[in-house]
Amino acid sequence: MKILFAASEVHPFAKTGGLGDVAGALPQALAALGHEVAIVLPLYPRVRRRGDVRTVVAEKVSCRFAHENRPFRLLRTELKDCPNVAVYLVENPWIFEAEEAFYGVEPGSYGDGHLRFLYFARALCEIPKAVDFFPSVFHLNDWQTALVAPLLRTVYKGEPRYRQTATVLTIHNLAYQGVFERADLDHAGIPGFLLAEGRLLEKGLGNLLAGGLRFADAVTTVSRSYAEEILGKEHGGGLEGLLQWRRPLLTGIVNGLDTKTWDPESDPHLPAHYTKDDFAGKARCKAELLQRSGLTPTDGPVFGVVSRLVGQKGLELVVPVMHELLGFDPSVRFVLLGSGEPELEQAFRRLAEHHPGRAAARLAFDAPFSSLVEAGSDFFLMPSLFEPCGLNQLISMRYGTPPIVRAVGGLKDTVTDATETTLSLGRATGFVFHDYSVPALAQAVKRALAVYRSPFDLDRMRRAGMASDWSWTKSAAEYIAVYEAALARRTSGHHLKEVLSGMPEEPIEVELPALAQVPEGYPRDSLTLIPFDPTTLFIGWELGGPITSRLFEALSEEQRRVLTYSVVLTEIDTGRVDRAEAAGFANQHFAAVRAGARYRAELWLNRPGIGSVLLLAHGAVSMPSDVRPREA
Ligand code: ADP
Repeated sequence: MKILFAASEVHPFAKTGGLGDVAGALPQALAALGHEVAIVLPLYPRVRRRGDVRTVVAEKVSCRFAHENRPFRLLRTELKDCPNVAVYLVENPWIFEAEEAFYGVEPGSYGDGHLRFLYFARALCEIPKAVDFFPSVFHLNDWQTALVAPLLRTVYKGEPRYRQTATVLTIHNLAYQGVFERADLDHAGIPGFLLAEGRLLEKGLGNLLAGGLRFADAVTTVSRSYAEEILGKEHGGGLEGLLQWRRPLLTGIVNGLDTKTWDPESDPHLPAHYTKDDFAGKARCKAELLQRSGLTPTDGPVFGVVSRLVGQKGLELVVPVMHELLGFDPSVRFVLLGSGEPELEQAFRRLAEHHPGRAAARLAFDAPFSSLVEAGSDFFLMPSLFEPCGLNQLISMRYGTPPIVRAVGGLKDTVTDATETTLSLGRATGFVFHDYSVPALAQAVKRALAVYRSPFDLDRMRRAGMASDWSWTKSAAEYIAVYEAALARRTSGHHLKEVLSGMPEEPIEVELPALAQVPEGYPRDSLTLIPFDPTTLFIGWELGGPITSRLFEALSEEQRRVLTYSVVLTEIDTGRVDRAEAAGFANQHFAAVRAGARYRAELWLNRPGIGSVLLLAHGAVSMPSDVRPREA
């Protein structure tokens, strides 16, 4: 089977969380089962800076976006140790490299995250044509790629080579749905007939995940329990009704782990290695973790956390529980690695300040250090409010560090609670508690302390976790079954009858407005002036070529966030100068001008704290003079 796997993050190229891990590992497992797999992700600045060998596959792939052709360059690279999985990188510096963050949702960011993924979805539909790889299955992941499902069934329905292509959409976290104003989708050039309730709109707003769920041929999520939970109000994120309707298409498949990357026997980030039969190396990891965290050595237990610091992860429960324990038991240590919401960062900073030598908070994203926390801790805390699957508890079990988790989503499905029975059978792998409350977590931590004092039980728990099979092989086979079901549905098409009824007949693509006359191909580093009507001048710019990219590269992330442009328009015959400011994500400006006059324009880049610099200039353009009299 040919599978095109589309994701906004793929380990090791770009990762902020579990999606990146999955997208880096599942395709390899599918390939190992004999399938032909290709991955697509955007070329972000972080990806560009990597030293991967890349080849250009296509120089200029046409891509309709915002009512224009905005081509991208397609590069190809490979996954280390897995050269048979092609990794395609979509390069459009202006779309994907205007800022460092992938999602454009961080404070002070351009906030153009929706635009880049609306573009990405469009690019994804073009890639099979550019590389002649027409997949049986388009495997889409989360809202960032969900739009491909509606696009293939509508805008691209005339493409015969997509007739046999099924779409499978995986929900990695329903908390992120890609919700945007209708006007934004309109601006991006999404055809008007899709901008309706029951299609891409959900309660008046664009909702890319909802749109994908309606049009996909199969839907999966990353654990069995989460697949059940999202049908209810508490975890359904407002889409529970839609998900109940899609229930026959919905399957929960638990995530595996990339066991080559996450292996205490070979992890290059550990000072010593170990196996389930010899924990000597784990003790050295613990000593190193304490030393590198500025904590004093101890015979007592170390509690570790590696997490995005967001409400979902239940870390607000950890602060009071650890505060009390650290005050009460001088042998306990606590290490947190994470970054995110300022209030949580502050709470852990305070905890560390309050318990010097006993508690540490490293507020960063640091992959090598995350290995050390997983290996060097005795217990791993993950009391999530909700958890679609969770990888950290899998990693901790593989590293012989029993996790303390709440009975929710994938945590419930993957951790076996330490009870008298499971302990005596050697099956216990962690501590599971139910209520989302401080006393419930405290109670679970108490149980962990008791096991810590019983080395026999602790060793058995460690071994049970390390012996469990967290590899992708089994889950990959389940995905293949879902792909096959999706293909069968694609052929029958019944499941889409309701959504597709009332769609316009072909040709389905909207007419491009007059602006489409902008030269095909959009050479980079160009400033374009086009009289839009006698008193309106369209000024558009395309950056990221050899002249401007060096300027942008020299800027820090912070500077890129706050930059603006000035469009300086000079009326040639009178010398009158008009100046307009444009936000950093803009690439066009409409200027009110005088009919019949001649203009030249300059585009300046304003870098706060550094000064302005001229980017591009354009010579004389004459406006038409025939202002037609207004109709009475
Ligand atoms: P989520 O996807 O919700 O963030 P998961 O447990 O599924 O949670 O996956 C988290 C992944 O991100 C793991 O690989 C984890 O090690 C990694 N991770 C999270 N925070 C950090 C951090 N601060 N530094 C390094 N890795 C991190």
